[in-house]
Amino acid sequence: MDKLRFLRLLSSGLCVVLLLACPLDGLSLFHKVRKGESLWSIARQYQTSPGAIKRINKLRSNNVYPGQVLRLTPRIVKYSAANGPYYYRKPGAGRQKHRNYREPSRSSPRTDYVRARTLLRVFDAQILANATKKRRQPLKGWRIVLDPGHGGIDPGAIVSNTAGKDERVYVVEDEYVYDIALRMYKRLRLLGAEVELTVISPNHLIRDNLPANTTFVHEQNEVYNDERYNRRNSEKVRPRSANLSQRVRVANRFVKKGRRGKSLFISLHADYNPGRPGGPLAIYHKRRGRTDSRSRSFARVMRSALNQPDLPARIQGRNLAVLRNNLAHAEILVEVHNVHDKNDAWKIRYHKNRERNAERIVKGILAYARKKR
Ligand SMILES: [Zn+2]
Repeated sequence: MDKLRFLRLLSSGLCVVLLLACPLDGLSLFHKVRKGESLWSIARQYQTSPGAIKRINKLRSNNVYPGQVLRLTPRIVKYSAANGPYYYRKPGAGRQKHRNYREPSRSSPRTDYVRARTLLRVFDAQILANATKKRRQPLKGWRIVLDPGHGGIDPGAIVSNTAGKDERVYVVEDEYVYDIALRMYKRLRLLGAEVELTVISPNHLIRDNLPANTTFVHEQNEVYNDERYNRRNSEKVRPRSANLSQRVRVANRFVKKGRRGKSLFISLHADYNPGRPGGPLAIYHKRRGRTDSRSRSFARVMRSALNQPDLPARIQGRNLAVLRNNLAHAEILVEVHNVHDKNDAWKIRYHKNRERNAERIVKGILAYARKKR
């Protein structure tokens, strides 16, 4: 074992034992300087300092030029937790205490946005750094938007569930679908796709919860993945049902940068719906009796991917705000679970099941991309 690896192992071991805040292990990433950027703007973007960038890259002056590649080491602190890990800040509660429990963000939307972006960049850099070079990349050229349902002020569904004998636990939809979105993000990046999230969180990436009764807390710190939008810096810019169309705006901006015909939009939910059976549902766009045929075809492929012998998946056409005016080649909303169903609400609490959810949806994306070739 080399010295660096040994030190990393030692430090992560210490973090667990002492439950101390430790810097994100082995964290460094590369940034290609774009036109108009300065040492200061880059430092700000990545939560580091101009001095640190100069030191690491052995720069003699404050000048940087477009195309230059800089190594960066963002100052992100990692906190261990039974339902974590968390970055920047850990939730105050160890689990969702009751239905109405919530933790408003202690930072401004602007700060949460900068932190969330940095965290996502680090996540992305780490996925690509750990990827083996010879991997097949069947989604190369595809742009995929993942829209984690709810977030910010709007938690989506909150249902009570039981753990063990009589212990009550609470499942908050937005926290769980965000986790599934990140698991998909990772898989899709490894398959060669460009991926964008409409909503981002400043304090967590993929989270395993062991044991599953340490449920995720309803935090209200998520923001839209849009720099300009968050400049307004009012709590009103946090995701909520009144600004749903912002999701489509973020998605369209990303889709327009790529090739037409090679983009997909997937909104992720696990709603409380007493009117339908448990199990997954893929919703395609249908408005005033007119069906978007590409959206429906994508939903059909997704149904096959989500189908399980004991839990059949369904499809449905609806007129939903996130599917309207959406420029993606095909757009759907996936109800991963119906948390009205006790068994569905139980399942989503386990990270292994969420990993399987992510795997199935990505299978559906791959199948659709293959069909289009
Ligand atoms: Zn929902």
